[in-house]
Amino acid sequence: MAVRRAAWRVTHRCVGDYAPADLDRSAHVSLAQRILQMEESPTLAVSAKAKALKAAGEPVIGFGAGEPDFATPDHIVEAAQRAATDPTNHRYTPSSGLPALREAIAADTAASSGMELGAENVVVSNGGKHALYNIFMALIDPGDEVLVPAPYWVSYPEQIRLAQGVTVTVPTSKETGFRTSVEQLDALVTDRTKALVFVSPSNPTGAVYPADEVAAIGEWAARRGLWVITDEIYRHLVYGEARFSSLPAVAPAAAERTIITSGVAKTYAMTGWRVGWAVGPAEFIAGIGKLQSQVTSNVSNVAQEAALAALTGPQEPVAEMRETFDRRRRLALEGLARIDGVEVSEPEGAFYVFPSFENFLGGEVAGHRVDDTLQLAEVLLEEAKVALVPGEAFGAPGYVRLSYALGDDDIADGIARIGDLLARS
Ligand code: GLU
Repeated sequence: MAVRRAAWRVTHRCVGDYAPADLDRSAHVSLAQRILQMEESPTLAVSAKAKALKAAGEPVIGFGAGEPDFATPDHIVEAAQRAATDPTNHRYTPSSGLPALREAIAADTAASSGMELGAENVVVSNGGKHALYNIFMALIDPGDEVLVPAPYWVSYPEQIRLAQGVTVTVPTSKETGFRTSVEQLDALVTDRTKALVFVSPSNPTGAVYPADEVAAIGEWAARRGLWVITDEIYRHLVYGEARFSSLPAVAPAAAERTIITSGVAKTYAMTGWRVGWAVGPAEFIAGIGKLQSQVTSNVSNVAQEAALAALTGPQEPVAEMRETFDRRRRLALEGLARIDGVEVSEPEGAFYVFPSFENFLGGEVAGHRVDDTLQLAEVLLEEAKVALVPGEAFGAPGYVRLSYALGDDDIADGIARIGDLLARS
């Protein structure tokens, strides 16, 4: 097999159905530079590819998707069914979100962040990804720099670029527990630095920052006059001794320039419902409301009613799903630890493991030359029928991301397949 390499752009042409490089500008389509320069979301591309291969009868095990495999809890689905029969929900509602949902999000976020919040501090968007896009669009002027610790979630740099900002990558590794520090951040600040993206628990590494480190980073940002965009989408998925700390709760000095983003997707198995939010200073949130009034209008009322039921209804399903994820996390870790040459540190949150496969690079795997994790991911898909996301997509070559949001048997079988293939090499 000829393995294509170099940029993620080239490789993901093999993985997704669409690639900017395939577009012929001399033909009828004349896409703008901002689209030509953009990468398709690699996480979505890998997961779509795995689903398509599976539907075509291939025995693929997909570790790509960052989405719970559970059904949305019944009481949430029933609330949506009721909402669909209410004619009020057949009409436009306020662009920034249903008042009752904004109140519920404000109450929930106030409890975890220690901030005083009302509906005016909340805007409801079409998923956490859309909330983040809105935040960058409302915050960033051309040339503003945003500090983004790596490994980072794939969409931050693309969204920052769409807002004409500049991503300043802050590299971390397994040696630092995939966590950054005040010293490292401070060395990268310039007079153009506008904001820091802070994520704990982290996608893709599962790292969870201890409270004192969150406090130190928040206080530093406040001293520097920086904004903090803190992505709390995985806050309910924390395991063992680790504890989630909301940045403004432990660094109140940073609160006035902090924007929290989250959503129902990961906590309540609601990825497809598309309800996320941004919480921050009322004036800033009103700016996002103005943007949404011109771009999207309200999020589907039925989905918003479902999100309201999720936040205000019984929370037992969340605890049950977390327990299941924790079991799967240990299963994935044990399996990976059994593969000679794979280095894996224990993730404490989210539902990802992020092992290093550096020991397998620069040689042959199943008869294919493998120089980077892009190529390794292709060989694993081709030869072992296992889909995972190469570290390059997260700004971390040498690593791969495995989501363990899939059945126990698939986790064990998929990791055994990886081990078998590597052992034969
Ligand atoms: N956030 C999930 C992931 O990282 C879902 C896919 C996406 O939106 O990137 O896989």
